[in-house]
Amino acid sequence: MSINVAIDGPAGAGKSTIAKLVAKEMGFIYVDTGAMYRAIALYLLRKNISIDDNEAIEKYCGEAKVSIKYEDGVQVVLLNGENVNGLIRTQEVGNMASASSTNGKVRALLLDLQRNLAKENDVVMDGRDIGTNILPDAQCKIYLTASSRVRAERRYLELTEKGIECDLDTIEKEIIERDERDMNREIAPLKQASDAVYLDTSDMNIDEVKTKIMEIVKSSTK
Ligand code: C5P
Repeated sequence: MSINVAIDGPAGAGKSTIAKLVAKEMGFIYVDTGAMYRAIALYLLRKNISIDDNEAIEKYCGEAKVSIKYEDGVQVVLLNGENVNGLIRTQEVGNMASASSTNGKVRALLLDLQRNLAKENDVVMDGRDIGTNILPDAQCKIYLTASSRVRAERRYLELTEKGIECDLDTIEKEIIERDERDMNREIAPLKQASDAVYLDTSDMNIDEVKTKIMEIVKSSTK
């Protein structure tokens, strides 16, 4: 049986950074489910569908065929066969992903892909509903979070390091809006699974988080 590590939490909590490190250390594959929602969002944006047009989202999302492959251990997301890794990290795509992922049809499109990956491989999978909905039997579940201010500051640093101009308060406002949508949607909302370990990283640095998470993963997968 494959070993599954599920990491859920709000936007900017550091899930992907940590999940990648854990996957490398354990020799597992890293599955970034947010990237899959982002690929569908990109498709919808290219169709000029607006973020609040749920009817159009429902109508056209099925045209977006998402699959993934691995190149040198890195997940590559394919949208109708096109590698979209370099196009899905924008704030615009993130906001559309957050809005369109409230739609049940969008979520259903990705369910089997995610479950099959976890069935066939040892995985560290991160997202919003992995421990609660996608992999309820995962051997290890972690809920990773931090205050909205700390998450905004991390994102601000990341963007400014890339030379992208941005405003800290605006980033925090968008993070709070995204949390609000992710936590309060009807289908598969973001919440801590009852058997997940809760970790608030607001006052921790990356090395401390990694050490703590490795302890949790090793003790629950041995
Ligand atoms: O994690 P990331 O910011 O890339 O995710 C983009 C959006 O996709 C999230 O804000 C969330 O609304 C949605 N998502 C989801 N379920 C997941 C992963 C992401 O609803 N498992």
